[in-house]
Amino acid sequence: MRIDPTLSPTPDAWLAANAPDEPVFFFHPARLMQVGRMFLEAFPGLVTYAVKANPAPEMIRALHAAGVTAFDVASPAEMALVRAEAPGAALHYHNPVRSASEVAAGQEAGCLSWSVDRMPELEKLAGLPRGTEIAVRLKLPVAGAAYDFGAKFGATPEQATQLLRRVVELGFSPSVTFHPGTQCTSPAPWARYIVEAAAVARSAGVALYRLNVGGGFPSHRDAGKPDLQAIFDTIREAAQGAFDSPPQLVCEPGRALAAEALTLATRVKGVHDEAVFLNDGVYGGLAEWRDIAPMDRVRAVSGTGTELGGAKTRRVVFGPTCDSIDRLPETLPLPSDLAEGDYLLFEGMGAYSRALVTGFNGYGVRRVVEIENQD
Ligand SMILES: *Cc1c(COP(=O)(O)O)cnc(C)c1O
Repeated sequence: MRIDPTLSPTPDAWLAANAPDEPVFFFHPARLMQVGRMFLEAFPGLVTYAVKANPAPEMIRALHAAGVTAFDVASPAEMALVRAEAPGAALHYHNPVRSASEVAAGQEAGCLSWSVDRMPELEKLAGLPRGTEIAVRLKLPVAGAAYDFGAKFGATPEQATQLLRRVVELGFSPSVTFHPGTQCTSPAPWARYIVEAAAVARSAGVALYRLNVGGGFPSHRDAGKPDLQAIFDTIREAAQGAFDSPPQLVCEPGRALAAEALTLATRVKGVHDEAVFLNDGVYGGLAEWRDIAPMDRVRAVSGTGTELGGAKTRRVVFGPTCDSIDRLPETLPLPSDLAEGDYLLFEGMGAYSRALVTGFNGYGVRRVVEIENQD
């Protein structure tokens, strides 16, 4: 995707001046760097960015410029991206199932930390240099996230104990990692995981090198901003309470770091009865909305840049393709006077949006415009 370097004061002003008929992502580097600096200051340990949330080169560059020096990568392509955009940054390869050639690529790229959740996958790593950090990924049946990450990856506490012992036998630095699940608004799952991670380390008789508390930090999706500080405080206190000598903490946020970086602007193609047809949908920038509750940070502006602020009507929202499942699963409350040619702006759309755009039926967001505002 091409990034338009034209600096404009706000998305609304740019839309009014350019009247684009295609959907547009607005990139807010100042907001992204501000969130990056907040994480670096407030999280009690090392902050790594989970690249999959938004692998745009300008995202990596801006976070690196803000001071993020480590990146969580899942594939050789993500390693190459970080090497190109953030030279010297540390790579953590936390995709626990790898082909032999991916193991070789990770080694070649100099990945410093590797996660595992199954014994045969750990054995595949036996040739890595001694002292390499191997983080055993733990899973627990905890609720609280928008969708469950334990459904695919993770070792039970018993399996994790065996894995940790084997990590030490192989001469690696033993760590534990977990992922409470994305958009996790409650601190409670982190506290539970940390207590269990300490128990696993004790039963394995292993002193942990580091404890990686994963991603899952919530972004601002509805009325109240999430309280990240409360989550950071819980993590710090839980680690101090659970370990005699707490290991160094690491986190790997994707969504919470990336979300504020993009606004998605879509245009209304038609309003018919109770349905709105947009020029983007679940095959484009709104792909994740099939799997997660809708956000209420949606604004409407007219083609001349005036905000539509009147009464609202709940409407079905269709995307532009000819596929009947190209609709948002839930209706959205939209201005009753919304009309063809107006724009709907979705704020906080930096995560799991741009990375998932397809070109299905000839649609899909292809344009990114950089915005210079400092708010
Ligand atoms: C996806 C992923 C993340 C980021 O998750 P968010 O919910 O976006 O913070 C972090 N770590 C791993 C291993 C992941 O797979």
